Amino acid sequence: MHEKITNRRRDWFWKLAHELTDKYDYLFFETLSLKGMKRLWGRKISDLAFAEFLKILDFVATKKGKVVSYIDRWYPSSKECSECHHVLDSLPLDIRYWICPNPACNARHGRDENASKNIKRAGSLSLGLNGVRQSQTATVARTLNPPNLIHEASA
Ligand SMILES: [Zn+2]
Repeated sequence: MHEKITNRRRDWFWKLAHELTDKYDYLFFETLSLKGMKRLWGRKISDLAFAEFLKILDFVATKKGKVVSYIDRWYPSSKECSECHHVLDSLPLDIRYWICPNPACNARHGRDENASKNIKRAGSLSLGLNGVRQSQTATVARTLNPPNLIHEASA
């Protein structure tokens, strides 16, 4: 029975690894402290299963020429506002939604979605992929307002 469950899980890991690597060129993971999550959700999350999945994903990604990258586990991905980069002092695990206390921001976040945005940004930066860097925002804005439009208006 145990073997059956293990095989079914492994089978699902392979499918998921293929699905993710078909869909994305870069995959970023936080090397989580799963201890905290375990404390909250008990046995549903297993370090071993997650490690096994990452091993399979690494293998599949390498074969397809995709990149799997890990970000620093001490990076406060959950506590940082993905909009303004304000970092909360603490964010208890049972808080699923929060509003950024920066009065200039007040963005409303789902805990996991916010963390995943931060992980993507941190991972992209670590690989030197400039697309999501904060300091690139101005460049993107300039691109959206091409100088020739201004020229046409003044002509
Ligand atoms: Zn904010």
